[in-house]
Amino acid sequence: MKRPFDILILGGGFSGTMLAIQLLRRDPRLNVAVVDKGKTPGRGLAYSTYYRFHVLNVPVKNMSALPEDSEHFLNWARNNHDSQVKGESFLPRAVYGRYLDSLLLEALSRCGKNLTWFPDEALLLTRNSGAYHAQLKGGEKLVAHAVVIATGNLPPGDPPALASEGETNRYVSVALSGQALECLYESPSVLLIGAGLTAVDLAIGLVTSGFQGKIHMLSRRGLTPQDHRETKPWPQFWNQECPRTVRGLVGMIRSQVRAAAASGVDWRSVIDALRPVTQEIWRSLPQEERRRFMRHARPYWDAHRHRVAPEVGDLLSHLIQEGQLQLYAGRITGYREDADQVLVTFRCRPGGRIEQLTVGHVVNCTGPEADWRRIDNSLLNSLFAQELAKPDPLFLGLDVDSVGAVVDKRGVSSKSLFAIGPVRKGSLWETTAVPELRKQASDLAEHLLNVLNEERARNKVRSPSVDRSA
Ligand SMILES: Cc1cc2nc3c(=O)[nH]c(=O)nc-3n(C[C@H](O)[C@H](O)[C@H](O)COP(=O)(O)OP(=O)(O)OC[C@H]3O[C@@H](n4cnc5c(N)ncnc54)[C@H](O)[C@@H]3O)c2cc1C
Repeated sequence: MKRPFDILILGGGFSGTMLAIQLLRRDPRLNVAVVDKGKTPGRGLAYSTYYRFHVLNVPVKNMSALPEDSEHFLNWARNNHDSQVKGESFLPRAVYGRYLDSLLLEALSRCGKNLTWFPDEALLLTRNSGAYHAQLKGGEKLVAHAVVIATGNLPPGDPPALASEGETNRYVSVALSGQALECLYESPSVLLIGAGLTAVDLAIGLVTSGFQGKIHMLSRRGLTPQDHRETKPWPQFWNQECPRTVRGLVGMIRSQVRAAAASGVDWRSVIDALRPVTQEIWRSLPQEERRRFMRHARPYWDAHRHRVAPEVGDLLSHLIQEGQLQLYAGRITGYREDADQVLVTFRCRPGGRIEQLTVGHVVNCTGPEADWRRIDNSLLNSLFAQELAKPDPLFLGLDVDSVGAVVDKRGVSSKSLFAIGPVRKGSLWETTAVPELRKQASDLAEHLLNVLNEERARNKVRSPSVDRSA
């Protein structure tokens, strides 16, 4: 039997890759494996695009992949992309993808034989005889002492009116930026369901690739992401004494925005001031208030928190003014497709008027599935079936504790099964972007090493990664 891996990471996007790098930086003798079904190792969905107009929505100065070196990406970009790059610049995501390639290549050249990359999909994970066994789609079976789930966001669920459609010639159920574009170029018009970052990404990708048709965007509230502007900082104003209700927090943010405006400071600074404490705020809210946030406040928070680069915001406004892009607020009530077109019916908000749109194609841009009761994922379902894991109380991801250890059906934190990235959403809420994920990767690497070392000491056996004859 092959020697078990010390740590097996399932998913090799930003989170899984940075975790592997952080582990091997701390202990190059560790035996680490990453399984990733994506096409481009290390880049995940976000940074695999090659479209120039798919730009980062975070400025260069905040995109270092290494928490211990905040200027790492800035310096890399000046040396490898453009010597004039400024900290405030918004670079193409493809450039960031090249940056991640370089970090992965560097790690492979330093400790390549201790980092094994499997370009494959993990279908099942089982635990027996004190070890984990992963079954890959390609037939390989891997054994490991500890496993980290780093599978990122799940694909979006279909809106209820389209649930029975499945993928058709005219309905693209997952807006994988890039792939979805190919079948849309010749379409006279498209309807994008959703108006968040995914929809904006797709719309920008289409028009900058020469798409001449009409783009309709429909979301429950018709809100598109705000854009970044340079602003003066605003002090962090939240503490544990602040209200633990959504209503109270919204009132507090509004009054801070008014105070900021009176001092000539933009609302963006008020939202940004909350960023370092967003996870604490989430944790301070009772479950019922978290639910209330999801029902009522989330679209407004997302539109103000997840902003686009100024050039993307300008292009979006231009498309709306020119009439190529039209926004609607409402909910789809009917979908009928024939050989040439799609007829979509929706109930407008507010008012409830029924409207119809006839388009060439419809693309689901609603963002990741936010209800884990509806997921169809064999890897995660295998964990649930063995009671090794369960969804968090809001069904936003996996139930995990404060260090990212997966909590089992009985409520006990695992000592050998962990999660990183967006799958921790239920416990952290803010766990999507590089500034949070790089810290998670570093913290989890530290924790995993401590756990492994303690276990080795307890078992009084020599480390398999040190003892090559084992
Ligand atoms: C379009 C887009 C733009 C973004 N822009 C920014 C930005 O500008 N700045 C920022 O800070 N953040 C941005 N983000 C947030 C982004 O999600 C994170 O920065 C980061 O990419 C998340 O990394 P991840 O590894 O957790 O997930 P992912 O990148 O989704 O990676 C997960 C990987 O796991 C693989 N996988 C899933 N299931 C399995 C399985 N069963 N077996 C094997 N492999 C599996 C997937 O194929 C994928 O490669 C953006 C996100 C998107 C989608």
